[in-house]
Amino acid sequence: MIKFFIQTYGCQANVADSQAIANFLKDLDCEQVFTQESADIIIINTCAIRDKAEQKIYSYIGRLAKLRKQNIFFKIVIVGCIASYKKKDFYSRFPFITFVNGARDDKNLLQQKLLDLIMSMQTSKQINKLTEPVVLNKDTNISKFKNFNLKLGGLKVENKHSIQSFINIMTGCNNFCTYCIVPFTRGREISYLASDILEKIKFDISIGAKEIILLGQNVNSYKCPETEINFAGLLKKVAILPGNFWIRFMSPNPKDMTLDVIKVMAEHQDKICGFVHHPVQSGSNKILELMNRSYTVEKYLQQIDWIKKYLPKATISTDIIVGFPGENEQDFIATVELIKTVNFDNVYSYIFSPRKYTKAALMQDNLSYQEKQVRLDYLQKVQIDIAKNKNEAYIGHTLKCLVEKPAVNGMLLARSAGNHTVLFNGDYELINSFVDVNIETAGATNLTGSLIDKC
Ligand code: SF4
Repeated sequence: MIKFFIQTYGCQANVADSQAIANFLKDLDCEQVFTQESADIIIINTCAIRDKAEQKIYSYIGRLAKLRKQNIFFKIVIVGCIASYKKKDFYSRFPFITFVNGARDDKNLLQQKLLDLIMSMQTSKQINKLTEPVVLNKDTNISKFKNFNLKLGGLKVENKHSIQSFINIMTGCNNFCTYCIVPFTRGREISYLASDILEKIKFDISIGAKEIILLGQNVNSYKCPETEINFAGLLKKVAILPGNFWIRFMSPNPKDMTLDVIKVMAEHQDKICGFVHHPVQSGSNKILELMNRSYTVEKYLQQIDWIKKYLPKATISTDIIVGFPGENEQDFIATVELIKTVNFDNVYSYIFSPRKYTKAALMQDNLSYQEKQVRLDYLQKVQIDIAKNKNEAYIGHTLKCLVEKPAVNGMLLARSAGNHTVLFNGDYELINSFVDVNIETAGATNLTGSLIDKC
């Protein structure tokens, strides 16, 4: 049996693509393994959003060269965002790579390449007689994979083994934020058919998915190419599907966020998690303009007011870029003030990382890396205090959680609707179930508590 390992970098869109690739390979009777040493194929799903991540990927591939000496069947496949625009670089720098397929390349082609690779590996294993003869299982219907379609980006996306179902409702982006490489790597925005999305979700629920995560670079600009249904309409259609499951989505863009999305969330709180990841990036209008984000701090705060009014129990998180070119002390203070005003539950903050091809990479950078680091450290400290305070308010309360996996300390790791990581002692059989947990202690990143019961 051919074994594969997938290393995923980057955003939830990449996680969804990796899940789709895994399911496709499992349908070809391949086995997913969780250590690279035991794999015949390593698939690296790359992310181009930050230069640091890109360098990490290169050094990871460099280290893989050693594994090739231990396994003559060993293959490396590169997919994802960097693969879209650095194909030649990959081939010249790492000649042992089997093939590269970019995020905006035809997904049907990726299926075809994977299918060809598996078949040639099976044949090669048989010829070399280094393992027991392996043939594609007689029940494997290869023809179904040749009947390619463009559903959900072309990849067959049956989800057999996960309680989480990552659903790309669209791909690409039209926004061209000046720091972002996504429109170059994933191409222009395309929304998938609502009927295909709903069909996929129904299927995943029927095989046990408990959490549906709708993904897109800018989910608010979703528009079904057939029915013209918008994101609020799609969200509602998902929420009224029968079953015991939660729905999350990411990420909205404040540029396109509408009140009707919040109202649908409020109407369907039993299904749609009270959690909004709403990336603001900066608290300074000057910087937002330089970033080409097409909204103002005032507009953002109005949306936060909607969330707080219609979903008073919802948690809110955001992304912040520190040290964007042109960011002066005042701009930075405005960002810190915004964080305090919104009282975010969580903030994902990063130092600006210039990406080739983007406008921001050509902008005059006025700060040293050390100065940016000082700002980042300060901002993170402010946020840790806020998060800790907010989390402490849950002590003594009961949170409904979905149990995901064992935690390192022998406890179970679960997630609340508000996206808190909740740790508690319990039987491993609870994994994949909804439970009520009484919260007893709280830190900036985790809550811990005692199991009340399954719910
Ligand atoms: S909205 Fe902006 S940051 Fe997000 S993917 Fe599109 S260009 Fe990039």
